Amino acid sequence: MSGGWAGSNRRAELPPDWYTVIRPYVLARDEHRCRARIDGRVCGRPANQVDHIGDRHDHRPEMLQALCADCHGRKSSRQGNEARWAVRRQRPKERHPGLL
Ligand SMILES: [Zn+2]
Repeated sequence: MSGGWAGSNRRAELPPDWYTVIRPYVLARDEHRCRARIDGRVCGRPANQVDHIGDRHDHRPEMLQALCADCHGRKSSRQGNEARWAVRRQRPKERHPGLL
């Protein structure tokens, strides 16, 4: 495939109605509450972000979810820094001062 849309820029991968239709729809559907799960529980905090559950080019509403800024940031950083998280998980357990 060559050429593509006239005037399209690669930075804007979101559809033209993302901010006017899709994003408000998803936030309203999820009642502006974060749908991320933390330790098996839904976060539930006020959400102002819409996240792609699967492929980031898949903009179907069922493949989108509302997230709060914290959870969105955490998800993004986890995807980008798997290695760093792995290292952090290997940190040795601290000894309980009272249990010697
Ligand atoms: Zn959240």
